[in-house]
Parts: sequence; structure tokens; C-alpha cells
Amino acid sequence: MSLKRKLLRQAGALLPAGLLRSLGRPVALFFHGVERRIADPALQFNHHTLEDFHAIAAALKADFDVAPLTDLGAVLKRPERHRRTVFLMSDDGYANTQLAADVLEDLHLPWTLFVSTEHIDTGAPNPMFQARRFLHHAPDGVYRIPHVPEPIRLNGARAAVAEETIHGIRFLPADAARETIGAMAAALGRGGAADNGDYSSERFLTWDELRGLAARGVAIGAHAHWHWAMHPRENPEMLRQQAAMPRQRIEAEVGPCRTFAYPFGNKRDVSALAWRAVRDAGYDYAFTTMSGTLSARQNPWLLPRYGLALQEPNMAGTLPLLRLGNPRLARWQRGLN
Ligand SMILES: [Zn+2]
Repeated sequence: MSLKRKLLRQAGALLPAGLLRSLGRPVALFFHGVERRIADPALQFNHHTLEDFHAIAAALKADFDVAPLTDLGAVLKRPERHRRTVFLMSDDGYANTQLAADVLEDLHLPWTLFVSTEHIDTGAPNPMFQARRFLHHAPDGVYRIPHVPEPIRLNGARAAVAEETIHGIRFLPADAARETIGAMAAALGRGGAADNGDYSSERFLTWDELRGLAARGVAIGAHAHWHWAMHPRENPEMLRQQAAMPRQRIEAEVGPCRTFAYPFGNKRDVSALAWRAVRDAGYDYAFTTMSGTLSARQNPWLLPRYGLALQEPNMAGTLPLLRLGNPRLARWQRGLN
């Protein structure tokens, strides 16, 4: 858990409930997948256990007003009247979000699922998952991988070299990153592009399954085409594709798509050209993963969103304090103008 998140929780536990309620503002929250059992925390850290997810959903039901994204425009106009409003979202489009759908349907909680459409089209695993799988599970040895300047030495404990390598490839342009990830997958020596090894948690939904979720009331949004950050080193044409293609695919296969969430979505993962490409592709709103609460003064294509920790024992305390992130968010948004 990050230090910031720890401090947020401690403050949230100490402040009186009445004060916290008055601080509250509408927020966007997101999760990834939901699994019955996590076998490998180093690779499956994007997935809540079903039990923990149920606890989070029940707490949202008890302490907040979970609203559909179609309410966002009205809520943004009067955020002070929606102190307990939460918009719940899931990213990527893992097949196991069908477990989340069951939980949320039982509790009558609306949510939006942002999918990376190339992965729905092809079943290809998330590229960062592929990189981590190589780094943690390739046989011991020295590997020369395109666009990684130094040979990667894998032996014994892998955590440090894995994180260092991920950090080094994270801001590659997508074309180069595909070569890097392809070489890692080949070096691991597994099967084809859609091979998830033993990790069923990493399987993506199919279009049929997505249509099934949409028929149950889940709103479907876009999360780029290929799951790669739309950062400042990416070329403009690729940014346009990453913005426009998922909307085309979702509208062709499922139905209207008006909202977008950036892959990674943090401070260095979204460029000034990226949000303009998203705006120009016709989305009404787009979500980052910068902390903050929602307001109409913000750039609607750079809205804040909070990633739910694997366990969230005190959301009534922590969520109102997300507004502490608003000054930093505002500075960042101004810097991307
Ligand atoms: Zn994602």
C-alpha cells in the first residue's frame, strides 16, 4: 500500500464522522477483476478476491449513493449536493468481471466496464502481464530483448529486476513496446498470442460475453485499443487510433460508447495530445487515475478516479478525503492545456 493511501486511511479513521460527511464530494472509483482465489499475488495483483469485493460493494451500498455514469453531467453541475455519490467502474475487461457483475446485480449497484478492445478482439493478454510473466517465470538466464538497453539477467529472486525492467519499458511508444513484449513472450516459450499460461484471471471477455453484460445493464466504455499508456512519447497517429478505434469497435459490437478511461492513467501516462485525441474521438468524459473528487471546473477528459485497494475497511473515512488531491490534479490539468 502506498504511503499516501496509508495516511489517507489513518486520517479517515481519526476524523469525526460528521466532519467527514461535510467534506464529501462525488468520486469515481475503479477496480479490475474479481477472482475466487488468488494463487500468485506477484502477477494477479489486479484482482480482488470475491470475498473482499463483496465487502467493498456492501460498504458502498450502505454508506454511499452509487449512481450510473449517465448521471455524471447533473452531478458535476452541483457536486455539493452529491456528497455521497460514487461512480463505480472496472477497467480492462477481464472475463472474471462476470463475478463482479453477479455481486453488483444482487446489490442493485450500477457500474461501467471500460474495455481495451484489441484484447476483446483477439484474446491477447495484457502486455504488462506478459512482461511480468516473462520476468517472474522465464528460466534462469541472460536475455537480450529489443528496446531494453542492458541484457536482462534472471536468476534467483526476481522482484527487483522485474520492477526495474517494467519501469524501463513503460514509456516506450506502442510500436516498440509490441516488439519488446513479443520477444519476452517468445523467450518464455509458451504458445500463441492469446496464451495466458495458467492464469485464467487474465482471460479477456469475448464480445458475446460483453453483450451479455450490457443486456444486464452494465455500461460499456473504452479503455484504448491496445492496453498501453497514451504517454508523451507516443506518436500522434497512434494516440488517435488508441482513442478512436475502441469506440468504433464497441459501437459496432455492443452499442453507444460515450466514456473513456486511460490505461495506467497516472501523471506521466496521459499526454496533452492524448486527451485531445480522446475529446476529438467523440467521448463526453474520460477518466485518469489521478486522485481527487469530481467537479465541473475540471477538464472533462481528465477526470480523477481512485483505484480501490484490495481491501477497503474504511471507505466512509477515506473517500471524503480524496479532495485533498484536487490542488495537485488542477496543477496537472493546467500543465496539459
Ligand atoms: Zn487498465
